[in-house]
Amino acid sequence: ATPTAVMVATGKGASQGVLIKGGNALENAHKVKTVVFDKTGTLTAGKPVVVSTKLFFNMPILEFYDMAAAAEANSEHPIAKAVVEHGKKLRQQYGSYNDHVAEVQEFEVYTGAGVTANVGGRKVLVGNKRLMQVFQVPVSPEVEDYMSDMEQLARTCVLVSIDGRITGALAVSDPLKPEAERVVSFLQSMKISSIMVTGDNWATANAIAREVGIITVFAETDPVGKAEKIKEYQMKGMTVAMVGDGINDSPALVAADVGMAIGAGTDIAIEAADVVLIKSNLEDVVTAIDLSRKTLSRIR
Ligand code: ADP
Ligand code: MG
Repeated sequence: ATPTAVMVATGKGASQGVLIKGGNALENAHKVKTVVFDKTGTLTAGKPVVVSTKLFFNMPILEFYDMAAAAEANSEHPIAKAVVEHGKKLRQQYGSYNDHVAEVQEFEVYTGAGVTANVGGRKVLVGNKRLMQVFQVPVSPEVEDYMSDMEQLARTCVLVSIDGRITGALAVSDPLKPEAERVVSFLQSMKISSIMVTGDNWATANAIAREVGIITVFAETDPVGKAEKIKEYQMKGMTVAMVGDGINDSPALVAADVGMAIGAGTDIAIEAADVVLIKSNLEDVVTAIDLSRKTLSRIR
């Protein structure tokens, strides 16, 4: 496209809440054959809420949430926020069994797995099965059953280990964005296929994919794995767009021919992307591609 055409298109995009950084993205977007979507915060609202709790040992639920919330207090992850929120809510409902706030030390983040901390002298782990495996915490059949029940319901199960044993688990639900399904089927009508990549587990990922109408899913992928998936599709000769919101999506956003960041996402993702969807609305994936198609056909 000519510099003028690029300027007109980026101006038009900006007025619609689609920020296009430079001509390259605009040139590439009309060739996109594959859109890779992150799950959490991209296809889903990214505001998970705790919808179920199960204790495997006798322990007051307030105390359980105090421990879990203390460990999660310094995490930016949406799941961490859900755990902290739920703890607060329970406390408001059931009041004070004590108001003592445990001291948190040795807080550590395991990207794509969870967090660990020393809470009032006890070693607390909050995260997925992988985190438990790293610390050699046994996962009993009873815990496995609860996990798979929750995952079939498209919920993400979070395990909480205190001093080396899984004391309880909770499940968070993160509903799809209302437009997600419509956008996937609209892309299909444009002969563009949609794929999901996520750090979440396979069962939950598959359940969400089924809801939104995505057939191809890659779950339990770390940030590097997400970028590698993009490159695999590019190696097959396809022009690939990536849509994501998190730090964990940044390498994939950079690798993609067109990286699109959700406006409400993290700054790092926004910096890594070529296009920013200011309204955080997935319809604007189509807006961006459309704009590119129109811009490039006009000058031919
Ligand atoms: P996504 O790719 O879906 O955005 P992430 O890579 O951020 O997911 O995380 C992958 C998985 O790791 C989550 O689904 C969750 O099971 C676990 N996890 C990551 N961070 C946390 C945390 N702070 N607390 C609990 N679980 C976590
Ligand atoms: Mg995400």
